[in-house]
Amino acid sequence: VRRNPGESDFHQAVHEVAETIIPYIQDKPIYKEARVLERMTEPDRIVSFRVCWEDDSGNVRVNRGYRVQCNNAIGPYKGGLRFHHDVTLSTLKFLAFEQTFKNSLTGLPMGGGKGGSDFNPKGKSDREVMRFCQAFMTQLFRHIGADTDVPAGDIGVGAREIGYMFGQHKRLTNEFTGILTGKGLEYGGSLVRTEATGFGAVYMLEDMLKVRSQSIEGKTAVVSGSGNVATYASKKLIELGAKVVTLSDSSGFIHDPEGIDEDKLAYVLDLKNVKRGRISEYVSEYPQASFHAGERPWHVPCDLAFPCATQNELHEEDALALVKNGCIAVSEGANMPTTAGGVEVFQKARIMYAPSKAANAGGVAVSGLEMSQNSARISWDETNLNRQLRNIMQTIHDNCLEFGQDPGDDYIDYVRGANIAGFNKVANAMIAYGVI
Ligand code: NDP
Repeated sequence: VRRNPGESDFHQAVHEVAETIIPYIQDKPIYKEARVLERMTEPDRIVSFRVCWEDDSGNVRVNRGYRVQCNNAIGPYKGGLRFHHDVTLSTLKFLAFEQTFKNSLTGLPMGGGKGGSDFNPKGKSDREVMRFCQAFMTQLFRHIGADTDVPAGDIGVGAREIGYMFGQHKRLTNEFTGILTGKGLEYGGSLVRTEATGFGAVYMLEDMLKVRSQSIEGKTAVVSGSGNVATYASKKLIELGAKVVTLSDSSGFIHDPEGIDEDKLAYVLDLKNVKRGRISEYVSEYPQASFHAGERPWHVPCDLAFPCATQNELHEEDALALVKNGCIAVSEGANMPTTAGGVEVFQKARIMYAPSKAANAGGVAVSGLEMSQNSARISWDETNLNRQLRNIMQTIHDNCLEFGQDPGDDYIDYVRGANIAGFNKVANAMIAYGVI
């Protein structure tokens, strides 16, 4: 806390990991003596830079850009870029720390990193977003590379922003290399990447239910967010026969008691990605639905919950409402959406709970596959990639089982399982390198 004052998100993420790793390494002197956990909590490197750009009225604007290179013990730094007015160094340090464990869990050779800016893309014209992205990459390009650090998208950074940044990198370096993932299919992107995080969070929950001989079909699901992760989680849920009844954004949530079907979801995708509108507009198109301004959807009765918007969006009282209303399983599409108090409620109630570093690892897994395709200059087909994504999620689930269950107890602690499985590989690599 003294070394990272005021970084509450970062403290929260480290605390959650330390709570399970410290007991695990008690009888393993090799990890304790090498102080591996302490070393993991100190990022390898943090860069911060000025991003200067011009708005449509000719005003000069200044934002701050960052890249947190947390750990590259098992592969190049890898993790998204977030553009949101709330972004601070603490946010990015927590995300980079989580990413290190998540990337390890995928089984692919990727280290952990994260970056972004306090730039707010909302209300900006397309050209303003372009000029910002170009200015951002003009600073970032000297710190990244296909074998060094490969950023991707995150909140506020989708296909459009990746395109502008990739184009600027190409212009600056005169090289066409896989320095970003989430690219368009025309210039080195991978099929299934767009869908991967949302689909993966649903696959995780499917595997959790399977352990209890249950399935997704016929269940009611509450989803928060209406961005990339939320919409593709909803798509997979609908495909598997669930009824999705909510979506949200930072202004509130919509509740459609009849369920959001494929046509309604297509409307939402167009609304958010093309028209760049607000989720409240859903009720003008579908009047049976209601909009709840300034609220989150956790008090709507459901069997399954998918927080897919942002960190700390599901508090202790929300978790209590979910449990009281009969929710049986939670899969986190967003990063650290549940507060520590909320997690405790789920675990005490012994409901199935998959933390983000396991549940939303599908996105970075397919990003890893995008890197492989770029290196080999080939493209795999959709069937192949879907199969690989499904297998990776199954492996993550099984790794959580291995380290998350006590003999004689049928409750699976997916938090402990994911932390330990993610930790082992990174820790062993760090020990192999000696003290560096
Ligand atoms: P998008 O930008 O596509 O969507 C974000 C959604 O969350 C929007 O609906 C947004 O609403 C809402 N949101 C953002 N901030 C807040 C807030 N403070 N309160 C309430 N709602 C908010 O981002 P993604 O879908 O890509 O990311 C969502 C989450 O998933 C993040 O936690 C991200 O880190 C995580 N994630 C994403 C991956 C990916 O592949 N995209 C991979 C792994 C994790 P509004 O439009 O009003 O801001």
